[in-house]
Amino acid sequence: MTGAELAAVRKRAGLSQTELARQAGCGRHTVSYWECKPVVGLRAWAVERMATVLDLPDTPAVTRARAAWADMLAAADAAREAAFLVHVRRLQIQCETVRAKRRVICGARTRKGTPCRAKSEPGRRRCKFHGGKSTGARTPEGIERIREAQRQRWARWRLCRKEGDKT
Ligand SMILES: [Zn+2]
Repeated sequence: MTGAELAAVRKRAGLSQTELARQAGCGRHTVSYWECKPVVGLRAWAVERMATVLDLPDTPAVTRARAAWADMLAAADAAREAAFLVHVRRLQIQCETVRAKRRVICGARTRKGTPCRAKSEPGRRRCKFHGGKSTGARTPEGIERIREAQRQRWARWRLCRKEGDKT
């Protein structure tokens, strides 16, 4: 391939020397250098790079260069993707932090029958007076006690409902 042929291929592709250089990742002067040569060395680094943009004859070196270029673009994509995921994760952590610190209005029914207007404990739904401080049962005995209380509570509820059916 001659330099003139290389120039012809570039013009057919509708690219200026500057644009070809930009897309191939080499200098503009390198493009003009090879276009002035009587013979274009298809194994030259810059020519391999130009071959990734232009439709040059496929020598093994050109094929390799095309594959390497595609790999590089894929790697860049993967890096962008990874950076994006890191960004998303950071936002999630921010949301979790905000949620863990959020204080809402308690709203539990007070002895007056009105909703409690105190602020909840951070990250909880109820104020310190209405269970916001409670961790729930922790010891095995405590867990068993609350379980038994729940059993009795729902047994009473079922009994009431049955009797309600009869009347
Ligand atoms: Zn309250």
